[in-house]
Amino acid sequence: MQQIGNIKEIQAFALESRRSGKTIALVPTMGYLHDGHLELMKRAREKADLVIVSIFINPIQFGPNEDLDCYPQDLDGDLAKCRNVGVDIVFTPTREMLYPDSFQSSVEVKEITKGLCGAGRPGHFQGVTTVVSKLFNLTLPNIAFFGEKDFQQLAVIRQMVDDLNFPIEIVGVQIVRESDGLAMSSRNAYLPDRERKEAANIFQALIHAKALHKQGLKESKALCQTVSEQLDKKMESPFQVEYIKIYNASNLTEINGPITTPAVLLIAVKLGGTRLIDNLKL
Ligand code: AMP
Repeated sequence: MQQIGNIKEIQAFALESRRSGKTIALVPTMGYLHDGHLELMKRAREKADLVIVSIFINPIQFGPNEDLDCYPQDLDGDLAKCRNVGVDIVFTPTREMLYPDSFQSSVEVKEITKGLCGAGRPGHFQGVTTVVSKLFNLTLPNIAFFGEKDFQQLAVIRQMVDDLNFPIEIVGVQIVRESDGLAMSSRNAYLPDRERKEAANIFQALIHAKALHKQGLKESKALCQTVSEQLDKKMESPFQVEYIKIYNASNLTEINGPITTPAVLLIAVKLGGTRLIDNLKL
């Protein structure tokens, strides 16, 4: 496995690999890798000759009062994990390389970034689509892997690839969870013991709503209400719900009335100072 920190070098490597007929899979990450990230890499390993993992904490996708400055990092641990699952290249650019002083462009997906996380994190998805476009151009993947944990992000990337005709296949990978159901996230490291334990209630509340939906409760508002009630009942630590919503899983529009199409229940909760997201297909 090789670590490349330079944008000219990674692009030359990718160009040469593609010219010689090799296929490339890309897994973009912000590092502090866990089993969710590793699942993406394992899936990538099965699909291409070369697997490139990028590790880059992308400053332009963080808002002014978010956790950019304390986002967890462990490059040595990350490199060991990548090596273990057979990654070929770990791309670790610096901020200055990706955003030199002269930088002035951006990529924006307009409609489906307005709700959910886009509403609470203005500019976030523009930061994501801009950096992912840059990573695509630098690593020239045939195929790229993203987690369903960030369900809206996956939909936004698919939309961008479709709209801008990137010749890249996008693969979504199911959420990997801790044994108590909490969706794995680098940000879980922020949770003190007590909040970490209580965080499992988020997934339990989604499961509860899914069961009610299966039993015949089809009204979107009522299902979201049950999630909220479950959290109120089970959580002892202070928390704030940012959103609990049901969306059409294929076009990412909100469902307000009865659910008649494949749907996904999405939630964002702030537990103490930690923002957690999760979702479950109904
Ligand atoms: P991040 O490092 O948080 O930007 O995540 C990098 C990629 O890993 C994104 O495509 C995420 O959706 C994906 N990912 C993060 N957590 C999980 C998880 N628990 N299960 C599956 N994919 C995940």
